[in-house]
Amino acid sequence: MGPDSYYDILGVPRNADDKEIKKAYRNLARKYHPDVCKEPGAEERFKKINEAYSVLSDSQKRAQYDNMGHEAYSSASRGSYSGGGGYSGGFSADFSGFGDIFETFFGGGGRQRAGPRPGADLLMKMRITLEEAAFGTEKEVGVDHVEPCPECDGSGSETKKATTCPTCGGSGQMRQMSQSIFGNFVRMSTCTTCGGRGKVPETRCKACGGTGHRRARQTVKVKIPPGVDTGMRLRMEGYGDAGDYGAPSGDLYIEISVAPHRSFTRRGDDLETTVDISPAQAVLGSEVEVQTIDGRTVVLDIPAGVQHNTGLKIRGEGVRWQTRPGDMLVRVHIVVPERLTDEERELYERLLEIGGHKPSAKKGKGFFQDVVDKVKESVK
Ligand SMILES: [Zn+2]
Ligand SMILES: [Zn+2]
Repeated sequence: MGPDSYYDILGVPRNADDKEIKKAYRNLARKYHPDVCKEPGAEERFKKINEAYSVLSDSQKRAQYDNMGHEAYSSASRGSYSGGGGYSGGFSADFSGFGDIFETFFGGGGRQRAGPRPGADLLMKMRITLEEAAFGTEKEVGVDHVEPCPECDGSGSETKKATTCPTCGGSGQMRQMSQSIFGNFVRMSTCTTCGGRGKVPETRCKACGGTGHRRARQTVKVKIPPGVDTGMRLRMEGYGDAGDYGAPSGDLYIEISVAPHRSFTRRGDDLETTVDISPAQAVLGSEVEVQTIDGRTVVLDIPAGVQHNTGLKIRGEGVRWQTRPGDMLVRVHIVVPERLTDEERELYERLLEIGGHKPSAKKGKGFFQDVVDKVKESVK
């Protein structure tokens, strides 16, 4: 059985509008917020609700999601895309919807949790070429992150053993009463001695001062799947900062931006380019050669009587990463020749005559033409 789609998670139809989505999200997020809901699995569910909302509330991400399907969109460095963050580490601020509801209700302090804390997520931006986005690529990047101290294996203790925190007796928490619009409830705050871990190193490791961590640069191989687009985030699970001893590492998110291409503009999975033709080619129709994104030459048949700026489609020559590839849209630009051979001039004059018009009184180039030519030469 496949995972639930983001629509199923929010309980909305696939054609739901932004309002319906926001409403469903607010209701569900309120119901399953881990500070409110004590049902088992609530936190997991809350994460999923946030993930679903972060995608469906963003028209661009939603279109990509609809296009790619759940499986391809939601599983990240294992070949998939992430909807942008999760309810962990530094990423919660990424959810516009999350912020405006819960900052007000819960005082903005965020949740404090007992026990070893997972590592923070990291975000990195990566600029790639349109070719790389279209075909996928593999890149190595250097990422500064927190990793376990090699001297103590991340335990923070020279003996690699920890003892129960004397301040909180191992719970990692201190109790506090708190008020909210839902009424009073007990708010747990983190023990300041052990930082919520509940344990302190038996003998403080000298290399890391007992933190169990050190900062280092890691080299990460990033596999960029074909079809990625600006704004998409790849999730590299476990490549973020190291967590407390015994807790999982955070994730590394790589936000893609695709650099503009000199001849192609991307529209979804379609690629748009232009081809210059002469007035004669436009009138009579003509075969022209155009370059595809992967450097091949294909022949495009331009129909007789084509108008300036007409778009002609070449099927299947767009971005190819799913079963139905995008198309190449070739926009026809009719370029009027600036210089003519004597033979061409004769023929144009004949055309003009047939059309019942007289040529311009100025024979040859006028003043304006001279100026334009001079500018062109100085640019060369
Ligand atoms: Zn250490
Ligand atoms: Zn403590």
